[in-house]
Amino acid sequence: MKKYKITLIPGDGIGPEITEVTKRCIEATGVKIEWEQCEAGIPAIEKFNDPLPRETIESIRKNKICLKGPITTPVGTGYRSINVALRQIFNLYACVRPFKVYQGARTFYKDIDLVIIRENMEDLYAGIEFEIGKPETLEVLETITRLSKKEISRDSGISIKPISISGSEKIVRFAFEYARKNKRKKVTAIHKANIMKFTDGLFLDVSRKIAADYSDVEFEDRIVDNMAMQLVQKPQKYDILVCPNLYGDILSDLCAGLVGGLGLSPGANYGDDVAIFEPTHGSAPKYAGKNVVNPSAQILAAVLMLRYIEENIAATKLEEALAWVIKDGKYTTYDFMPEGTSGKSTTEMGEAIIKRMVR
Ligand code: NAD
Repeated sequence: MKKYKITLIPGDGIGPEITEVTKRCIEATGVKIEWEQCEAGIPAIEKFNDPLPRETIESIRKNKICLKGPITTPVGTGYRSINVALRQIFNLYACVRPFKVYQGARTFYKDIDLVIIRENMEDLYAGIEFEIGKPETLEVLETITRLSKKEISRDSGISIKPISISGSEKIVRFAFEYARKNKRKKVTAIHKANIMKFTDGLFLDVSRKIAADYSDVEFEDRIVDNMAMQLVQKPQKYDILVCPNLYGDILSDLCAGLVGGLGLSPGANYGDDVAIFEPTHGSAPKYAGKNVVNPSAQILAAVLMLRYIEENIAATKLEEALAWVIKDGKYTTYDFMPEGTSGKSTTEMGEAIIKRMVR
């Protein structure tokens, strides 16, 4: 039987709890994986004084596949996001996040089955920022004022939003190829081209041009604020949303809310030869170490990983067992329960999934 070598980053916060349960669920599918466990985030600072040690980067470079838990990013100060750094280092330009309603999830909706395909490298996430008051910031402000003839207040910080033709072409083509491969019918491009003509306008132009190569897939576009409202009113009308980085991030949480919460929303980051699978949610520090959070997003990220390595039978078995446990409702975590009620523990939910698979 084939054995895979895969990098595992438990991350921090709730990461170690949900990755441990996920590891056991994968083992119960029968797929053989030799995990190379690496640190990133808070445990890596404690051990290596570096939130993203070289060993971790080298392991991913070598194994090319990584299952990752969430990693905390300090807000406003401290080191930059390790999640964003990993995407940049390995050129993981496409983030794929499926949102599906599982019967038994706490949601008003049914029949949602949509996928956000988010550009992962550009936009306001490019990390090009100028801090208030620094000499280089004042130089940038002066240059912008000189070239644009628009005054910017000198007490401003600046974040740059680059969107390129090449980056947009890559992600939009990825979205159409994904549609074809997964027998999906429609791609909707998200933008704010009415306001940001040279960035979002470019993204929209490129989307229209690429769409012309895929006459078998329907194409439309939506302005991001309108899209937010439509997703709340009629999410069933949408299939694949292809988004620049920031809109993809925000709409992902909106869609997670539609299907029952962040605990049910997995993600995959793909480059040309490396893929990292992770939940959409963060490290939820207030729940860390309490064994109460929902492991489903991490488990569904593992389902995406199993499909990526073409272990499709195992992937289906794991997803079906998870869906059964959610529908059954006897072993689900707090976020499936009425507000203010506690649920079963992370490990109890994991054990119920394993029991369903090996019955
Ligand atoms: P979060 O996603 O960690 O948590 C927000 C809330 O969502 C939680 O308080 C909880 O109520 C709920 N939630 C999240 N995951 C859950 C689960 N598995 N089960 C049940 N409920 C769950 O968002 P945050 O509090 O804004 O971010 C915390 C940290 O995580 C920040 O440092 C942030 O930068 C980081 N983050 C990391 C990633 C990543 O690793 N890819 C993604 C997003 C945020």
